[in-house]
Amino acid sequence: MKETGDRKVVLAFPRGFCAGVVRAIDIVKLALEAYGQPLYVRREIVHNKFVVNELHEKGVLFVNELGEVPAGSRVIFSAHGVPPEVWAEAEARRLKVIDATCPLVTKVHKEAVKYARDGYAIVLIGHSDHDEVIGTLGEAPGNIIVLDPEGDIERLKVADPAKIVYLTQTTLSINDTRRIVEKLRRRFPRIKAPNSEDICYATQNRQAAVLELTNRAELILVVGSANSSNSRRLVEVAQSAGVPAHLIDDIEDIQLSWIRDVETIGLTAGASAPEDLVERVVAYLGGLGYPHIEPGSGVMEHVQFSLPPELAEAAAAHHPRRPGE
Ligand code: SF4
Repeated sequence: MKETGDRKVVLAFPRGFCAGVVRAIDIVKLALEAYGQPLYVRREIVHNKFVVNELHEKGVLFVNELGEVPAGSRVIFSAHGVPPEVWAEAEARRLKVIDATCPLVTKVHKEAVKYARDGYAIVLIGHSDHDEVIGTLGEAPGNIIVLDPEGDIERLKVADPAKIVYLTQTTLSINDTRRIVEKLRRRFPRIKAPNSEDICYATQNRQAAVLELTNRAELILVVGSANSSNSRRLVEVAQSAGVPAHLIDDIEDIQLSWIRDVETIGLTAGASAPEDLVERVVAYLGGLGYPHIEPGSGVMEHVQFSLPPELAEAAAAHHPRRPGE
């Protein structure tokens, strides 16, 4: 049995909110301030139940489909993006849309449109039931074949194997995707890669950070909701490196049997999980005899995305800057 004095928590760096999530949450909060209620959000703004509950308590109304939004109302599209038919439906119903789609998801949409226009078959590597993949697929359904990460590459059929490109969901496992792309290249030697990486900087940095933890910790806890793709990938990255890992929404999910005889616990959070949940887990583990906190070492992130211009203007009008500010 380890002495309590030896026990510690290593905090992954970076962890938690990415620039796309910060922007999406800011959009909802600023829109609520600037325009008031009713304010609708289609689907979860980001995949975290605490974030959604907090906004719901402030008066934001979450809906699954636009049919639930009264004609002419204001609605926000989530960070994961929507297919073009959702934009068309919003226009037909005269909804005032604020788009909180992460710019890095929009980039993949634009790639899909461009390659489809150029006559390419597009293999979209991603989870077919995820909102982001559904949104990208909708940009060019006649050209896109969705390949689930566990899908069978041998069964893929394209009209012209010389005109094929792959794109990916932004939150996939880097290692799994590399393996899938290698297999795709063996099957379709002339397959094109996207112009720039589709797996976003935040996914890459958080996976690298959790991998670093696997060298220092015997157990890894990932704060995040079960429907958060990037959080689930963090668990898988740790597990594939041979370290037990669990996804937890909050402290109630931590089972004492996991930490029995564990000296060092690695702790991280998915891109949609708020830092105050991480702090709650740290305090809870402190109470269980893990008094020391050590920082992980990863890259500092400086990415920031600007607000949609119409919202930036409305927010500025709501909070006019005073002279000298
Ligand atoms: S995880 Fe990446 S793509 Fe998704 S919202 Fe964050 S920055 Fe954007």
